[in-house]
Amino acid sequence: MVSLQEDRQEEAVCPICQEHLKEAVSTDCKHLFCRVCLAQHMEKALASGALCCPLCRKPYSEGVLGEGYICHKHQKRFQRFCEKSKCLLCVECLESPEHQSHSEPTIETAISHYKKRLTHKFRKLRKDIGKLQQLKAQEEEKLQALQEDCGNHKLEAELVSQHQNKGQLDIISQQQVGQLEDTSAEEARILELSKAIAQISLLVADLESTAKELDANTLTTASDLLKRSTPKNLDELLSLPAPAGPVAN
Ligand SMILES: [Zn+2]
Ligand SMILES: [Zn+2]
Ligand SMILES: [Zn+2]
Ligand SMILES: [Zn+2]
Repeated sequence: MVSLQEDRQEEAVCPICQEHLKEAVSTDCKHLFCRVCLAQHMEKALASGALCCPLCRKPYSEGVLGEGYICHKHQKRFQRFCEKSKCLLCVECLESPEHQSHSEPTIETAISHYKKRLTHKFRKLRKDIGKLQQLKAQEEEKLQALQEDCGNHKLEAELVSQHQNKGQLDIISQQQVGQLEDTSAEEARILELSKAIAQISLLVADLESTAKELDANTLTTASDLLKRSTPKNLDELLSLPAPAGPVAN
């Protein structure tokens, strides 16, 4: 909880959450807090009256939260996040008719809500990546087997051609054509899986870092990210039936 004693040796620690300062903001009395912690404190303090530094009780202004936290139109602190319009609102913005019919969570509620959703999504996608990687490994094994098989047939063809057996040679070259087709289908599938893995990995990285650093300024990014789509064919790829290769036969 809030320690009221002057604590100079631990300047990198937020007096409210007792953790490493995240996006430090300084009150007018030069005490440092995490932006989110101070915003939460402000929320409660405003309800009960004046804003005082949680450490030394000196008054401070809403502006200390910084640029992104102040509504330029009304010069008041943002308090809510409008899910529908994807924007932050101050008390006066809230009054405007367009928001009357919306439900507007407080910024803190929106942050924790989006954090949960982002986390849920990247965890699920991480599992999907795992499955895709497994599939890709299987396909690669099949491809390798196909290629080895192709090599064997080539050798066989050479042996047969040395003995001038026309009929047998035809059969073998037909088999070779079929195998080449299988091989390129296999290669295309592997490529598709690699692309999907790369695309989802990027998305997971974005989701993860956004969830970690989520604050009022990145709420809109968060809601956009949740909408950013995974590869269209993800479900299809994940339910891929094992293609009939020489291994499966
Ligand atoms: Zn803090
Ligand atoms: Zn202070
Ligand atoms: Zn406003
Ligand atoms: Zn609204």
